[in-house]
Amino acid sequence: MSEKSGRRPPRTLTTAELTAKIIDLTSELGACRVGITTVDTLAGGPPSTDLQYVLPGARAAITFALPFDQDKIRDYLSKRDRDGHQVDYSRTNTLATGVAAQLAGYIAHFGHPSVGTLSNEVYRNDDANRPSQLYPDISHRLLAVRGGVGWFGLSGNVMTPDHGANVSLATAVTTAELEPTEPLLEKDNYCDECGDMECVAACPSAFLHNAKKQQTTVTMGGVSFTYAERRNYDRCGYVCAGYSGLHPSGRWSTWSPGRFPIPKHDGDLRAVVPDALKAWVERPKLDGHTLQQPLLYQATRKDVQLTCGSCMLVCAADPEERRRRLEMLRGHGVVVQHPDGRVEAMSPEAARAHLDAMDPETRALYEPEDPDAYDDLDTYGS
Ligand code: SF4
Ligand code: SF4
Repeated sequence: MSEKSGRRPPRTLTTAELTAKIIDLTSELGACRVGITTVDTLAGGPPSTDLQYVLPGARAAITFALPFDQDKIRDYLSKRDRDGHQVDYSRTNTLATGVAAQLAGYIAHFGHPSVGTLSNEVYRNDDANRPSQLYPDISHRLLAVRGGVGWFGLSGNVMTPDHGANVSLATAVTTAELEPTEPLLEKDNYCDECGDMECVAACPSAFLHNAKKQQTTVTMGGVSFTYAERRNYDRCGYVCAGYSGLHPSGRWSTWSPGRFPIPKHDGDLRAVVPDALKAWVERPKLDGHTLQQPLLYQATRKDVQLTCGSCMLVCAADPEERRRRLEMLRGHGVVVQHPDGRVEAMSPEAARAHLDAMDPETRALYEPEDPDAYDDLDTYGS
């Protein structure tokens, strides 16, 4: 009851009241950053910023970031413990999806239909798009930078002020009118001072190889954002899905025991991906948990497990920590797999001996059966 008037407050919140409440609630639910975009602030953006695709009549979106566990990331990058980050990654993404649903339910209570969108692993499936093209229902990244959750890093990942790019993003879309939040000031974007470009150096597939030379600019609501143009997504998928993990230097790897070549030209991916995929399908599951990624499971009946993500994980807010993380990744050798699925990091020389001791059929689960098979391809490190 209102003490002054003795009457109940009106049941409908004003736009300002609802906006403040939703920002407060999102933080209460664990978000380290929250941003609000509207149809106006997203105007002119790419199709993945179209709120109507998710909810006809939508007027605004709340995008937020939940931080991943930093200690688990350090253990993962050092190749001490893969599963700790795997579990934290899945749970944080699931929590973000739940927070988005919770926000949608809360706003709907006030008479505004709303929906929460999944944090990850959901792609457009309609007359114009197939899931394999990997177009999301809504781009959390684009909404996040426009609403001030973070800045675009060179990598195209969203960097938050305190947790770097080590966050899970999700979005609730609503028909409610909300007040938009401003993008963060570009002058404060710490990516500009990142001389070492750890995200580029951490990528065995050279997905970000042209980062400085070829860039993409996206304009939403009259504000432009720039980040590295992405090469063929199959290049990232080749390593990120775990088919291969050995860096072209041969001195370090991701958590994948696969060691297939990395072509310099995107067009040559089709020559290596089928063999690497077949080997991945046939080799034992890594010890520990899996990702719930239906696309590859549908095609292979095998679950993806986290083995990379390094471009995001090395990108901490503190430059010294970024350098340390890159060294963790590069300084702890390469992984091999044991028959029970267990993966273990060791020196490149010990890993070579481990592979050489395998029978040819088992070795073919990890590297090309015929070492000369790709001689005519231009590959990194050859
Ligand atoms: S690692 Fe460095 S260059 Fe890459 S996105 Fe992060 S801050 Fe920017
Ligand atoms: S996830 Fe791995 S392979 Fe994909 S772009 Fe990032 S570092 Fe490269």
